[in-house]
Amino acid sequence: EQKASTNRSPALFSNELQQKVLDTQVILEGLQQATERRQLYLCYQPIVSAKDSTFCSFEALLRWDFAGRFIGPDEFIPLAEKSGLIKEMGAWVLNRACMDASQWQHAHNAAVSVNVSVIQLMDDSFIRALDNALRSSGLSPERLHLEITESVFVDNKVKIKQQLEAIQKRKVLVSIDDFGTGYSSLSQLQSLAVNQVKIDKSFVDNIENNGEAIIRATLFIASELNCKTVAEGVETLEQAQALKAMGVDYLQGYYFAKPMPNEQLIEWQNPVTDVTVTE
Ligand code: C2E
Ligand code: MG
Ligand code: MG
Ligand code: MG
Repeated sequence: EQKASTNRSPALFSNELQQKVLDTQVILEGLQQATERRQLYLCYQPIVSAKDSTFCSFEALLRWDFAGRFIGPDEFIPLAEKSGLIKEMGAWVLNRACMDASQWQHAHNAAVSVNVSVIQLMDDSFIRALDNALRSSGLSPERLHLEITESVFVDNKVKIKQQLEAIQKRKVLVSIDDFGTGYSSLSQLQSLAVNQVKIDKSFVDNIENNGEAIIRATLFIASELNCKTVAEGVETLEQAQALKAMGVDYLQGYYFAKPMPNEQLIEWQNPVTDVTVTE
């Protein structure tokens, strides 16, 4: 993670004009090659229990170094979705993440949380790719969580429902990512059984202002629907303490750890930062 950002070449890409030289087409071709040549890799970020700060799971986040320039998934995933490359890429991510998790000696009970694109989820090949990843890694399905962004709930609800049911039939858990930022209505949320809700970073950032009310409302809904809650983008002790006091189940963010490559993760010692407020 750290390495990727310092790898950026300031001399080559110092101004916006030069940035634009790498236009969409170039990025897309690079991405295609990276997928074929296995130049993509995963970083993992710990998700800890709010109760005692021990880690429970790790979110897999896709990384790509393109000719020394770091391009984030927020930039390349939409391109991969548009071009259809996401299916192949997503299947690779699922496989890699399950394989890595199956070999985590120090975290043999921890789950791996994998982001799944709408387009990937809605494709007929998705359940096959899922079964394949579980079978070839031998990972127990309870140790796999899939993170789906709320916008998926917009179209073709019947198909989404079927896909989510097929996933849950396999005992794989489903989380809604970036909760509160999408377009879903609460009734849709209720009709689709999900296991976990991830509170978006933007609400954590604004916890001092109106973020708190939204987080409290989310926690209420989640408890009514029997969902666990995760707060994303926790950067300070104060945020962690406030979220814990409100009753959030799990915390994730730079305050605990940044995403790290698997090689680093297997040597990672959880500092177990106690976030309890002592009176
Ligand atoms: P996301 O799933 O909501 O992931 C959380 C993002 O917040 C990650 O950005 C993570 O590095 C970042 N983050 C975590 N804690 C903190 C913090 O304390 N402060 C700040 N400033 N950021 C924090 P990243 O890795 O750039 O990923 C961005 C998005 O790209 C992800 O958002 C996800 O939607 C998508 N993505 C990443 N990997 C994959 C993938 O394998 N497949 C798909 N379909 N999407 C992916
Ligand atoms: Mg996510
Ligand atoms: Mg998120
Ligand atoms: Mg996001």
